Formats: sequence, C-alpha cells, structure tokens
Amino acid sequence: MNEFQLIQQYFNASNLAFDQDNVVKGIGDDCCILKLEDNQQFVMSLDTLVEDVHFPKHASAFDIATRALSVSLSDLAAMGASPVAFTLGITLPNADETWIKEFCEGLSAVAMEFNMPLIGGDTTKGPCLVLSLQVHGVVEQGKALTRSGAKVGHNVYVSGPMGDGAGALPFALDSTKIFEPGGYFHQAFYRPLAQVEFGKSISAYASSCLDVSDGLLQDAGHICQASHLAMNIQSDLIPLSAELLEEHGAEKSLTYALTGGDDYQLLYTAQHCEKGICIGEVKEGDGVYLDGEILSKSQRIKQAGFQHFN
Ligand code: ADP
Ligand code: MG
Repeated sequence: MNEFQLIQQYFNASNLAFDQDNVVKGIGDDCCILKLEDNQQFVMSLDTLVEDVHFPKHASAFDIATRALSVSLSDLAAMGASPVAFTLGITLPNADETWIKEFCEGLSAVAMEFNMPLIGGDTTKGPCLVLSLQVHGVVEQGKALTRSGAKVGHNVYVSGPMGDGAGALPFALDSTKIFEPGGYFHQAFYRPLAQVEFGKSISAYASSCLDVSDGLLQDAGHICQASHLAMNIQSDLIPLSAELLEEHGAEKSLTYALTGGDDYQLLYTAQHCEKGICIGEVKEGDGVYLDGEILSKSQRIKQAGFQHFN
C-alpha cells in the first residue's frame, strides 16, 4: 500500500474526515480551507508526541491515538474554544495496515465525540513513531481564556480531580502492572476527557486559565508569571479521586496532584465561579505558595513537572 492509498483509505475515511460547519475543504487538495463567522476568532495549537517519550512503545494503536488527540484537544479547552477540526503529521517506521486501521479508529472515536474531523496532514516514513497533531478551534471575538488575566483577590480553581495522570503512569510504564481495560486509570492515561464544555462554561467568569499538563505547581507558576502575580494553593483543598487515594494512599496522591503531570484538568482564576473546586487565591507578589510557604522557582522545577532538555 503506497502513501496515497493509505491516506485515501484510512485518513480520508468517512468516520474521520466527516463534514463540519467551519470546514470548506478537507483532505485531498494542497491545503484545507476553513471559514470563520464574523464574530469568531481562530484558535490553534500544535502538539508533538514521540514514541517512548510521550507514550510507551507497547501501547495499542487505538490508545496512542485517543491519547494524542485528547491531549491536543485539551489546549483548545483551556482557551474556552470550540473544536473545529484537526490536522495530523505522522512519521511511521512502516505502513502496517492493521496498526494504521486501529490508530484511525482511535482518532475517530475522539474526533466524533467532539465533532472535529481530520482535514489534512502529512505522512512520512522514519525510524520511530512521531505524531504531530494540530487542533483548530474557534472562540467568540475577544473571549479566549488566557494565562495572563489573573487579578489580586481572585480565587484559584480546578475543574476536577488532580493527580490521576501521574497515578496512572506506573500502570502505563510497568508491564507487570496491568491496566484494567477501560478502567479508571486506563481512561485517565489514554483518554483523558478534554474539558471542552467546562472551558466554554467558565469563559464568562474566568480571568485566566490553562490546562494542567506539567503538574499543578508548575502550571500554577505559568499563570503567576503571565499575570505578574502570586498564588497561594491550599493543599487540603486539592480534589483527589477515590481511585487515586485507594491505589496510592494520601501522601503519594497529594505528591502526584502537586507535581505529576498529564491531568488535563483546567486550572483557572475567577473573582467568583459556581463551577469547579476552589483551591486557593491570587495575591500580590511573584511565584507559587503552598500552604502559605513560597516555593522557589528551582524548587518548583525540581519537585514539579516534566521538562524536556533537563
Ligand atoms: P502534498 O504533496 O501536496 O503536500 P500530500 O501528498 O502530502 O500532498 O497529501 C495529499 C493530501 O492528503 C493533502 O490534502 C494532505 O493534507 C492529506 N494528508 C496527507 N497525510 C495526511 C495525514 N496523515 N492525515 C490527514 N491528511 C493527510
Ligand atoms: Mg505533503
């Protein structure tokens, strides 16, 4: 099967390259074409996932696909945007049809759930699997949620339980620990629910927002830096799932919540918000405080979160 047949049969399939209101032209030409309404702004994000860095080599094609698209989509959720479509750059060691079919089924599952068709991409051969997913979305003019709008006195919220991503990691990495298929941690790692509806629902209230991908403390630091303010987070207010607590105990669960990554919940600030769980407040200054104690930047980086090139 050559590159063109592969694209036609799998990427341009009806369960993946379906119609969407903003899409004028999808796969098949030199470019895809999108249209915007007068009051819409275009929102776009690119994520690259490398085999054995962002997902284990032994993961199934379906799981790799759902994780890749869910994680990318989470960036649109963090902006309060509505998904429109996505593009896919894929580098493959070989064109194994069984693998590609299963991969496309995984993409389709998330694409259909969020009404975001595949509209283009690039397919190449290379030494290991590398995926670049670009998600495209729209937001009402001027309504995008950014990291830079936090204000002194605003509360700090999260959209849901923290630490599940890190709590799932031992299952994903250690082949002697088996995920219960479709179970809580399998879902948390391979198909974290992008908080798209949540992001849209807080866009009228939130003063700043991001999705927690690198760990709560490190990502809180990103809001502080962008907003030129400090934040105090109260550890006893951080929501932890019953599943996480049962699997890892209270202490480890809290560490995962603070410093683990891959949660894909939203962290945001607002003067007041009915939705979400309040975990602290924004204050004058610089940096992240935990239970009233300042964390230095180096502490934050050392304790918290994943960084490349370290
Ligand atoms: P070109 O040589 O003009 O870049 P390609 O042969 O790379 O065109 O791609 C042909 C069409 O197939 C284009 O519309 C492109 O967007 C689409 N395409 C290629 N690879 C992928 C992919 N991995 N996923 C989705 N669409 C793809
Ligand atoms: Mg090309």
